[in-house]
Amino acid sequence: MTPEQRRQYDEIQKLPFHKKTATSPKTTNNHIEKLLNQLNVEFDPEIIPVRVEPEAKTKSCYYNVEEKMKRDGGKIHYGWAIWQSQYLCEAEHHSVWEDNEGELVCVTPREQRYDKIMFVPDNNRVYKGVSISNVALNISGNPLIDDFIKIRYAICKLYEYGERKDVEVVVLPKCANDAITECDITSGAIEVFYLLGNKPTSNCYCRSLKPYRQCHGKDIDKKLQYCLSKVKQTIEEHTR
Ligand SMILES: [Zn+2]
Repeated sequence: MTPEQRRQYDEIQKLPFHKKTATSPKTTNNHIEKLLNQLNVEFDPEIIPVRVEPEAKTKSCYYNVEEKMKRDGGKIHYGWAIWQSQYLCEAEHHSVWEDNEGELVCVTPREQRYDKIMFVPDNNRVYKGVSISNVALNISGNPLIDDFIKIRYAICKLYEYGERKDVEVVVLPKCANDAITECDITSGAIEVFYLLGNKPTSNCYCRSLKPYRQCHGKDIDKKLQYCLSKVKQTIEEHTR
């Protein structure tokens, strides 16, 4: 982390603590319908039970399901877990276990405990070792969340450079890791800025006294494009 990043990070830590409010929706709604259209999936979402396996690891659903199949048979089913908070609706690529009777079960633990989750089967996106990006929809009506989503999407793209060493360890090239840290700090700052009731015209979170749109919110697309192409270039030079 550079001194400038550190300073920004410390600034963010001083802002009121916010906890992630996304939960698994119990029924579909207009936002979810719109998200499903964007995903272009052919199946309807289902509410499926979560039964965590003793050896299962967080964020390793593909491996957890494979382990489950070795023990109890059944099949792997790819698709999306759906999450919703007050300001966004998000699909996370996920895989679940299908038992011999055809019932879908999520066997993967999460930081927060769920008895059930909303899951949409999708046979067209199969995990082949490269992480698949989340798809998110801004439901807040505030363009700050568009910026937040763009940066989170860039983070997903950067994770594609990760190489899985084993069930729990994904190794990322240093340049990608640094870029993710920077994006994490920025997206965190924007999220908190939004939660404090700000808009793109509000004074920027960095206290420059300039509107956000003319300060940190300026040229977000260009900045992200530059960041991604720089990482790509560094990695290509390294492997040449
Ligand atoms: Zn700023």
